[in-house]
This record gives sequence, C-alpha cells and structure tokens, in this order.
Amino acid sequence: MERADIIVVGRGLMGTACARHLAEAGCDVVLVGPDEPTDRAHHKGPFGSFHDAGRITRAIAEDAVWSRLATRSIARYRDLERRSGIAFYTDGGAVMAGPQTGPMAGFAQDFLDCAARLGLRHARLTGNDLAQRFDCFSMPKGSLGAFDPLGGVIDPRAMRRAEETLAQAAGARVIPTHVTARNGAVLTLATGAALAAGHVVLAMGGWAGVDPMSSGRPAMRVYQRSVLLAEIDPDEAARLAGMPSLIYVPQGARTDLYLLPPIRYPDGRLYLKIGGEETSPEALDTAALNAWFKTKGSATAGAVLEAELRMLMPDLRIMRTTTAACAVSFTATGHPYIGRLDANTTLLTGGNGAAAKSADELGRLGAVAALGGAVAAEGLGTDFAPMFA
Ligand SMILES: Cc1cc2nc3c(=O)[nH]c(=O)nc-3n(C[C@H](O)[C@H](O)[C@H](O)COP(=O)(O)OP(=O)(O)OC[C@H]3O[C@@H](n4cnc5c(N)ncnc54)[C@H](O)[C@@H]3O)c2cc1C
Repeated sequence: MERADIIVVGRGLMGTACARHLAEAGCDVVLVGPDEPTDRAHHKGPFGSFHDAGRITRAIAEDAVWSRLATRSIARYRDLERRSGIAFYTDGGAVMAGPQTGPMAGFAQDFLDCAARLGLRHARLTGNDLAQRFDCFSMPKGSLGAFDPLGGVIDPRAMRRAEETLAQAAGARVIPTHVTARNGAVLTLATGAALAAGHVVLAMGGWAGVDPMSSGRPAMRVYQRSVLLAEIDPDEAARLAGMPSLIYVPQGARTDLYLLPPIRYPDGRLYLKIGGEETSPEALDTAALNAWFKTKGSATAGAVLEAELRMLMPDLRIMRTTTAACAVSFTATGHPYIGRLDANTTLLTGGNGAAAKSADELGRLGAVAALGGAVAAEGLGTDFAPMFA
C-alpha cells in the first residue's frame, strides 16, 4: 500500500496550494484527486469549481478577513508564475461599485471603509468618476465605488497548474483519481488501490459538504450556480481593452453581480462572463452535485444575467450567449473552514464563492493546521474554525 506523511484529498485550488506549501516545507505529500474531465457527460466522480478560464481577483472586499487573504495571495502571484513558468495573473484592475440607497446601500461604504482601515491602495469613485473613467459601463449616477489596482483576472486552471508544478518540484506525488472511501488514515481510491497517511487534509471543495469523509458534516450549503458567457468578436474585444473586472450591485438588487473583461476560452473564442444569483437550488448529495456539473447551467438564470449585462453595457455587441454550471459552498461563518478535526484530519474548504483569488494563502493556512500550528495566530482576524451541521 502506498504511504505518505500527509495526503491532501482534492486537486482543486485550495488543495493544490496546500500541497505546495507542505511539500516546500519538506513534508512527504501525496495529492490525490481527478484531472478535469475531458468528457463531462461520461465522467464518473467529482468535478471542480475551478474548471473555467477566468476568476476575478481583488484585494478590496467588504470583509477584512477576505481582504487580508487576497492581499497575501496576490503578493505571491508573480513569484508563483516565475518559479513555475506558468502565467495566470492579468493585472487589469478591478472595480467594485454599488448604489447608496436600497437593500444593499451599505455595500459600497463597507468595502471603502475596509480598504481605508487596512490601508489598501485604491481610488474612491463617485457615480461621475465611474461614468467618465469606465464609459463601457452604464451605472446609475448615485453609484459609489472603488478601483483596485491590484485587481484583475486570474486563470484558475493555470494557477492550479502552477501550484501543482511547484508542489511536484518539491517532491509531492500526484495520484489523478478520486477517493471513494475513508477508514481513519486509510483511503480507498476509485482505482481500487488503497493509500495510507499519517494525516489527511480534506480539500474537496463543495464535495466536502455533500460527501464529508470526516466524522461530522461541515455546516456548509452547496449551491448550484450558473454563469452567462457572452461571445464577442475581436474588434469588440479591442474596443473593450482596459475594461476592469467588476463586482457590481444594480440599483434595488439584493446581491452583487460579477463581470469579467474579455477572455479567450479554450475553444478559441472571446467571452465576457457574468454571474451572481440571489438564490439557486441547493445540491444535497454527491449524485446531485455531479449531475449538475454535467448540465450547461440554468437557462432561466442565464436569461436574467443576460438582461443585467445588456443593462450594464448597453453598447455591447454580443454575437451569441451560452451558459455554464458551477457550484459555490457557503459556510455558516462566511469564511472558509480551516482546522484540525482530530489527530489525523484537517479540513480545508468553504470557498463562499470567493476563494479562487485567495487559494494560495488558504492553502498555506491549511498546511499550518495540518502541521499542528495555530491558524488563529496567523493574523487574518479570525480562527477559521470549522462548524458542523
Ligand atoms: C461560477 C463561479 C464563479 C466564481 N468566481 C470567482 C471569482 O471571480 N473570484 C474568486 O476568488 N472566486 C470565485 N469563485 C470561487 C472559487 O472558484 C472557489 O471558491 C474555489 O474554486 C474553491 O476552491 P476549493 O479548492 O475549495 O474547491 P475546488 O476548486 O472545487 O476543488 C475541489 C477539488 O476536490 C476534488 N474532489 C472532490 N471530492 C473528491 C474526492 N472524493 N477525492 C478526490 N478529490 C475530490 C474535486 O474534483 C476538485 O478538483 C467562483 C466560483 C464559481 C462557481
């Protein structure tokens, strides 16, 4: 039976970063999890919430913990790129904006206060500033926002590859299949093989909520989410050169939308991606979550997102639209769960729809916990203690 001091279950964004930090600290690490499926319809096993070409990154957030997590991660992006030889960060800036009245009136003031408190470099933007500086967007005059120069776009697939490349360079071994069962420190793989570890880090994203593999079920709700991809032609993409990533609350809305600038997807086409739903169905078990990832998302959600996009960017020349499925995992604390569950288990999960940008710091905290350190002493402003249902 193959053995390792530490087995990280989940080759997603957090797990791979955790494996890198552990391997670079000199630990004997095995990282186990499936590759992204090439044939989604026939894939047997978990998918991943990073199977996409773009994620927004930004240091500014309404919450200081998330801001600190992102700031620390962004500070390491260029080093990760340089050492791995894999580029994943485009620093085109990010804008956050929202109305000053209505159900989310406090949103803009919260991220502005947080940025000021943490001393984050940013430009405060009134409605007029937004209209002049970012004329591709049409926002109500009463909007308030901020420009974050550290913000932009990361390619989550490439970032994961960069982390894994460095983990392997530091000696980590990768087993590209999923775990089907766990009995203490022994894991059974989908291949039928068994793996034994001194310690197991469970970094399974949403699957940790529906298929916990730990003694308790994390208090986490996993939601099926849809995104709209709007294809544009190269001329339209050139017209939008300089467009920042955007987190935006429309007037009267109860949740924020996110919008990425034009990105070339693996199919060779250029898309803007928009997402953000106030509610969506919950995935209650592994079968339902995996089945959701085999769909193209919700056409109804896609239609709402397209209407929002057309309102926000009335001049946008869209060639065609399509939708895609993903999943987000919301914890009871609003922060990820990072902590030891028992002597041989650490939990590292709960992205709350916002963890891609911060995965490197989250992975580092997972490594601290796995090695018996105190995550609460890491200066993030919370202890990330897991809660159970
Ligand atoms: C539509 C959408 C848009 C988003 N946009 C942003 C954004 O703009 N900015 C941002 O910062 N964040 C964003 N996020 C959130 C971000 O992508 C997630 O928070 C992040 O991917 C979570 O990382 P993770 O490692 O916890 O989970 P994942 O990245 O999902 O990785 C979990 C991994 O565990 C594996 N796994 C599961 N079960 C097993 C098993 N039994 N055995 C082995 N492996 C297993 C899975 O296959 C997967 O590879 C977005 C999420 C979605 C869905």
